[in-house]
Amino acid sequence: MIPGDFDYLRPKTKSEALVMLRDGGDEARPIAGGHSLIPMMKLRMAAPEKVVDLGGLADLKHISIEKDITIGAATTQHQLIESGALFDACPILRETALLIADPQIRYCGTLGGNVANGDPGNDMPALMQCLDASYIIESASGKREIKARDFYHAAYFTALETGELITAIRFKTPEAGHGYSYQKLKRKVGDYATAAAAVTLSMSEDNVTGASVALTNLADTPLYVAEAADILTSSPLSADTIKEAVKAAEAMMAPAADGRGSSEYRTRMGGVMVQRAIEAAVERADKTPKKGGLFGWLRG
Ligand SMILES: Cc1cc2nc3c(=O)[nH]c(=O)nc-3n(C[C@H](O)[C@H](O)[C@H](O)COP(=O)(O)OP(=O)(O)OC[C@H]3O[C@@H](n4cnc5c(N)ncnc54)[C@H](O)[C@@H]3O)c2cc1C
Repeated sequence: MIPGDFDYLRPKTKSEALVMLRDGGDEARPIAGGHSLIPMMKLRMAAPEKVVDLGGLADLKHISIEKDITIGAATTQHQLIESGALFDACPILRETALLIADPQIRYCGTLGGNVANGDPGNDMPALMQCLDASYIIESASGKREIKARDFYHAAYFTALETGELITAIRFKTPEAGHGYSYQKLKRKVGDYATAAAAVTLSMSEDNVTGASVALTNLADTPLYVAEAADILTSSPLSADTIKEAVKAAEAMMAPAADGRGSSEYRTRMGGVMVQRAIEAAVERADKTPKKGGLFGWLRG
């Protein structure tokens, strides 16, 4: 199938793009890497009359690492993998990006396109929920910021309004020595997840002092599992607390039955991914005793 007719617009600046999107209204769509939008246009699941190409907008391609990490929306998945500084500050980004599709797709696919798309199979939205990221959204009439945890409403339905563009993604730089893991089960290289889980945590000896757990492709939207973090931080880590956290995550999952398996199978695999991600994150975390950790004040 080839896509229907459309006008191709290539703005030179962000302001020009925002005006094109405003003027195009519901009939205009931004295109970044095109690796989700073009297949949807070929299948007639999307039929925009105007396509606004973000490829020429230098101010949407940047990575800044300070107290916060800010990444321009048009930064490609390949650029996320390539950045040594980003790997040092937040290694789970490279780990996750390397599990997306294949190198050719990662050269074109962008972080902004991946998080804006609204496909429950995309890997970056759950990671952004795990990192408690915010999306910076601009339109011709202003700017707003929304948390990744509030952005996804249903499959392909997000908080983005007509004429709006995600221009950057921002999150707090994780503390040094944190543990992390993105675990993804897929049928073969290049496939979307049967089930996947993102975990970050900080430790002081046996105690988890902070944790975050989020899930990919286990419901219509990415899922942030607040209860799992509460369980992991409520008492010294043990096989039982991990089991409880897995149970809390499984209770939120509602994957559709599809070519990847039945709903029951995918839920079970979701639980396995959460368990593996917690265990790998614990393994990687710096466990040096820290003053002010959750149990530090109890010990005096
Ligand atoms: C064979 C194949 C396998 C794949 N496997 C995976 C996988 O395992 N995991 C995974 O996560 N992804 C996978 N993908 C998708 C790939 O990562 C896409 O590139 C990505 O999801 C979308 O990014 P993009 O830059 O290509 O966006 P586009 O396709 O250009 O756009 C996607 C959507 O987002 C909108 N959009 C784009 N940028 C913005 C913006 N800045 N602000 C607002 N809206 C915007 C577009 O209008 C469109 O609706 C796969 C793709 C293919 C073809």
